Amino acid sequence: MVNVDIAIEKCTGCAHCRDVCPVNVFELRPRSNPEFASVVDDPSVAAKFQFRAEKSVVINGPECIVCEACLYECEGECITITDDEGNVRHSVYK
Ligand code: SF4
Ligand code: SF4
Repeated sequence: MVNVDIAIEKCTGCAHCRDVCPVNVFELRPRSNPEFASVVDDPSVAAKFQFRAEKSVVINGPECIVCEACLYECEGECITITDDEGNVRHSVYK
C-alpha cells in the first residue's frame, strides 16, 4: 500500500498538492484547527515562503498512483511517498 506523509511543520498551505493531485489525496484545513495546535512552522521554510491560513493533510494516501506531480509542486518540500515496493520519494520544489 502506498503511503503519503506530510512533514506538517514545513507545510505552507500553498495548496499546490491538492490542486495537482488527480486522485484527491490531500485536503486543506484551517490551521486554527486543534490538530495543528502544537505545530511550529519551520523557520527555514518561513524564510523563503509565506505560510497561509491552512495546512494540508493526507486523507486518501492509499489512492496515490505515484504520478509524482505533487513532489515537484510542494513549496515546503515536505511530502514523502513510499510506494508498494518500499521506494521512498521526497518532494523537491521546482
Ligand atoms: S504522487 Fe500521489 S499524492 Fe502526489 S499528486 Fe500523484 S497521485 Fe497525488
Ligand atoms: S504542496 Fe506542500 S507546502 Fe503546499 S500545501 Fe501541499 S504539503 Fe503543504
